[in-house]
Amino acid sequence: MILTITMNPSVDISYPLNKLIINDINRVSNVKKTAGGKGLNVTRGIKFSNISVLASGIIGGTTGNYIQKQLDEDNIDYDFYITKQESRNCIAILHEGNQTEILESGPVLDSQDANLFLKHYQTLLEKADLVTISGSLPQGFPIDFYVSLIEQADRYQTPVLLDSSGKMLHATLISEHKPYLIKPNKEELKQVIQMDIDDSDNSSLIKALNHPLLNDIPFIIISLGKKGAFARCHDQFYQVTIPKINVVNPVGSGDVTLAGLAVSLHEGESIDGMLKRAMTMGMLNTMESQTGFVNMSNYDQYYQQVKVKKYINHKVN
Ligand code: ATP
Repeated sequence: MILTITMNPSVDISYPLNKLIINDINRVSNVKKTAGGKGLNVTRGIKFSNISVLASGIIGGTTGNYIQKQLDEDNIDYDFYITKQESRNCIAILHEGNQTEILESGPVLDSQDANLFLKHYQTLLEKADLVTISGSLPQGFPIDFYVSLIEQADRYQTPVLLDSSGKMLHATLISEHKPYLIKPNKEELKQVIQMDIDDSDNSSLIKALNHPLLNDIPFIIISLGKKGAFARCHDQFYQVTIPKINVVNPVGSGDVTLAGLAVSLHEGESIDGMLKRAMTMGMLNTMESQTGFVNMSNYDQYYQQVKVKKYINHKVN
């Protein structure tokens, strides 16, 4: 089973409006509310791939109940740590071709919640083959909390795939408990290694991937939107190119890409197969209006069009 961790889930609310009128009433009828948070998108991507998945993290209050109800409707198994604090709402106002977002920061939690979650997580680790961790931490949690999650998983020799950014990602890279795989996009990687990256220049990408901070991470997949991805898997580099497609809504494609990576590692596929699966999942997500949704009946058609080129032992100093 794959265990997915979402530490700060949300109810994502979308308000489509013809025109957003500031300082006046805007009435909206076609409201959509879904269980959101990057890790829940990963969960859906894994579920679409027909692999057993369990969602966990921290939820609370009526918003937390709503998240559980939504997951029930999608037939997704979950086992959250429940806090007394209310989970957050995230609002996206879709107007005149724009998307204006109002994102609550979420509950402020304390060290007691952190410790109780760690205990809960430990019981889940006993049945997990692989863990994915996505997104940000609740306010009040230590910035190196993901290091604690990786440390516990290490005790069970369970690989952790991490999709986070900034200080939270950095904390894991300088720790002795490192993720097995990370999937930054270009901006996230630039921020963490403090280096410019030109994504149309392979030697620049290779140089970034050779940064000492990334030394002991077995799999680093830099996702590059419509340009596909560039990866270092152990000591080999791979350029992955994808076909031009009709993009409807790219939000969450990084999460569904991570789902593809998790499924592939879980199933013991080749590196070539893993990169192709991940890109195909990401593309399929961009072609749907619903975040985290994929139409698997298009899978083979797009999988065939993903190309992986390998560079052997190429190092650029
Ligand atoms: P997000 O934060 O929205 O989840 P991300 O920045 O983490 O996304 P991206 O690199 O934008 O991740 O996208 C992940 C993958 O999804 C890409 O590697 C690609 O396979 C697919 N993808 C994303 N955008 C496009 C696009 N415009 N055209 C084709 N494929 C895309």
